[in-house]
Amino acid sequence: MHIYSHPVCLEHRVPDGHPETPQRLQRVLQHLNECGISQQYPILDAPAALEEDILRAHPASHLAFIHAGVPADDTLLTPVDPDTWMGTRSEQAAHVAAGAVVAGVDDLISGRTKRVFCAVRPPGHHAEINSAMGFCLLNSVAIGALHALAQDSIDRVAILDFDVHHGNGTVDIFKDNADVLVCSSFQHPHYPNRGYDVDRYNIVHTPMAAGSRGNVFRALVERDWLPALERHKPDLILVSAGFDAHTEDPLADIDLVEDDYTWVTEFIVDNANQFCSGRILATLEGGYNLDALCRSVEAHLTALSV
Ligand SMILES: [Zn+2]
Repeated sequence: MHIYSHPVCLEHRVPDGHPETPQRLQRVLQHLNECGISQQYPILDAPAALEEDILRAHPASHLAFIHAGVPADDTLLTPVDPDTWMGTRSEQAAHVAAGAVVAGVDDLISGRTKRVFCAVRPPGHHAEINSAMGFCLLNSVAIGALHALAQDSIDRVAILDFDVHHGNGTVDIFKDNADVLVCSSFQHPHYPNRGYDVDRYNIVHTPMAAGSRGNVFRALVERDWLPALERHKPDLILVSAGFDAHTEDPLADIDLVEDDYTWVTEFIVDNANQFCSGRILATLEGGYNLDALCRSVEAHLTALSV
């Protein structure tokens, strides 16, 4: 397993009281060290994504918009939308978060490893073709999927998104690209309340009512995602790994526990073994109770590294 991160991801600043803090990643990296995972799998420095990689998912005008959001100095933060902010290092952090996924995809395709985890921020799955929103500037997982499809050996990719929020950005980018299956489980109704009604063969929405527990989540994933994966037969599986459906998370009301993240990871591993020689890349999306986030990431990586 390869784990990517980068110090600049800790330098993407947000206003006081904002849930998507640098401490999220700081605590996760500290926890990976304490539980021995980063001794076994030393953290690799993620490169920045190339412009040509980002331009497969977003137009040049979006890159220019992000660049224009970089404030003049470290005392300033630029609001991008009511939830999304940029400091002096945020653009670079977003480029590295996407670059981690691109580098990890290359590792999978070249056979250097079968499992990749990107411990990065800002998250990406809310970023639409033309919109930074919901803490996200660039859609890292989409950039990685499109980079994979640009390689000769990859014809179909699946993106599995178990963040508690709907992956509206990923849906927006792939709604007219049948080479990419997007499956998203999410609390509904809930933020971002857009894109959940996009009706395409390659887009699978799995809404869950507030208060749903692991048994509901597991049954819905088996009902919705399994037949879709069997139809799609992906050459590569990418995962938007958000851990904010955890019962202790302050941003939503789904009641998953660590064992549910173990279960869904094993489900993904089983499907990857069946369809794509076990090749899986997961990238960090949400997760805002820091203790629950650390325990959930550990459960995810323990099951992923098998
Ligand atoms: Zn989320």
